[in-house]
Amino acid sequence: MADKILMKTPLVEMDGDEMTRIIWKMIKDILIYPYVDLKSEYYDLGLEYRNETNDQVTVDSAKATVKYGVAVKCATITPNAARMTEYNLKEMWKSPNGTIRAILDGTVFRTPIIVKGITPYIPTWTKPITIARHAYGDVYKNAEMQVEKGSKCELVCTDAAGKETRTEIYNFSDSDGIIQGMHNKDASIASFARSCFNFALDTKQDVWFATKDTISKKYDHKFKDIFAEIFENEYKAKFDEAGIEYFYTLIDDAVARVIRSNGGYIWACKNYDGDVMSDMVATAYGSLAMMTSVLVSPDGVYEYEAAHGTVQRHYYKHLKGEKTSTNSVATLFAWTGALRKRGELDDLPELMAFADKLETATIKTIEDGVMTGDLAALSSIENKRTVDTETFLVEINNRLKEMM
Ligand code: NAP
Ligand code: MG
Repeated sequence: MADKILMKTPLVEMDGDEMTRIIWKMIKDILIYPYVDLKSEYYDLGLEYRNETNDQVTVDSAKATVKYGVAVKCATITPNAARMTEYNLKEMWKSPNGTIRAILDGTVFRTPIIVKGITPYIPTWTKPITIARHAYGDVYKNAEMQVEKGSKCELVCTDAAGKETRTEIYNFSDSDGIIQGMHNKDASIASFARSCFNFALDTKQDVWFATKDTISKKYDHKFKDIFAEIFENEYKAKFDEAGIEYFYTLIDDAVARVIRSNGGYIWACKNYDGDVMSDMVATAYGSLAMMTSVLVSPDGVYEYEAAHGTVQRHYYKHLKGEKTSTNSVATLFAWTGALRKRGELDDLPELMAFADKLETATIKTIEDGVMTGDLAALSSIENKRTVDTETFLVEINNRLKEMM
């Protein structure tokens, strides 16, 4: 076999929890180490070590990502009450993804991996639809109240000089009711827009964006204006050159067009729209285990991961010594995404080509009918064979070897 592919800059490697931690090691041992002289800066984001370091390791891994520009992350446990006891935690540590996202100021792009034999519920979606969710503000950082009949409710803004501006929300003269205040920041919306436009140039896909600006003439309209201004001033020429488009429409029109489309574009969504639509799109394409996810910062830092969690139920089976049939595709594609990006930034075409081959070998394995249980339940391929977690990776390697 040829020499191993050498790397220049390290990849930031964020290890994680439970079944995905087991898969993480298998992917490296079976599919990466034999071919790549892997240079990585390793951070253990497994819950035990997060607890031991008072979650400092998560912050350090995010800072290393800013430094090196590319990270690959394993799924991690976000602690809840049950995990407090299970892991004897000092504190209910915050979601690592939230911590990392706050440091990188990024946007998450989720893209389904399409294979023959697994038809989306919308059969015309022959190409992936990538959802970009603005993960800041709106209803997720709201203030709300229940109010009694007879209350008059206003929005009050006090500026830096102490001057008040008021506007009436509603006068509850005839009924009890509810009110809500929410906000967003121009800077956050601008970061979101830049992340979307950069990712579009990266992947040579159009960007669709939609709000309800006809009804929300100040709030939603501001999103539309910021996107339009940044596009005109910073991206229009680059988009023309790349032969891609930015398309704005109303959210209800967007939903109708998405359903009729063939996919193949990035759908930028406000926070709530992205929350709801990402679940719809993921379900329609078949499986969360076939969905990649990448966090892109406005200044071009990339963190790749799988969209699913740590697959806890499979992990407990694994601990009992039983074989599991856990799907490693999304985690594997996080690795290929990160290796390809590292190759692109460091001008290493052989590393980029390796990432392409590993993805092709993975898809070929499934299309040959060799797959994990979750996919076997969805696939229409005849003579399919359900294999365990490790055998699936070995089967991918059998095909990869032939391509190297
Ligand atoms: P999950 O790990 O995504 O698993 C939910 C169920 O989906 C599994 O039990 C399994 O169904 C199926 N599934 C998910 N991924 C699969 C795969 N790769 N192969 C086969 N089946 C798969 O979600 P969860 O059980 O709600 O969460 C478990 C832990 O993950 C939690 O502690 C949560 O905090 C964490 N989490 C982390 C991230 C992240 O780091 N990005 C995201 C979400 C959740 P069956 O059991 O029916 O086979
Ligand atoms: Mg949701």
